Amino acid sequence: MLSSELAHLVAIMLQSVDHAELGVQSMLDDLMTKFRSVLPENVIIAALDIIDKENVIKYSTPWSYPHYEVHGSAATYKVTLDMIMSPIPFYCSCSAFTYAVLIGGSHIVCKHILATCLADKFSLCTERPITQIDLETLIARRHSNAIDM
Ligand SMILES: [Zn+2]
Repeated sequence: MLSSELAHLVAIMLQSVDHAELGVQSMLDDLMTKFRSVLPENVIIAALDIIDKENVIKYSTPWSYPHYEVHGSAATYKVTLDMIMSPIPFYCSCSAFTYAVLIGGSHIVCKHILATCLADKFSLCTERPITQIDLETLIARRHSNAIDM
């Protein structure tokens, strides 16, 4: 199976779980069992650690889709979810995503994307409303970080 097909499979796994029907603990158990069949254990554990530290930030705007940032140990990464028309429906600005997902194809997602998907699904993101000026500052900061890389 191609990595892009597996990436869509992960997205479908997240969408298919309904906590109103199963209860939160059953849903988590079900999701973790499914993830372990397609993702390395270290990526799952690292993603859960990111969520536990409340390092997934969701910027909500009334006029656009949400923007996500994940605070890593060395940097802050931009994450985009739900790119349903793309061969790989996620994006992360970290080097692991570029090299292990996009170029090497050895991984389906990085820990930041998995953490963001799970935090969003379980409403565990740190939510921040954002104004147009805040958004301009956020985008400018991202581009200045990209130049430093
Ligand atoms: Zn990443």
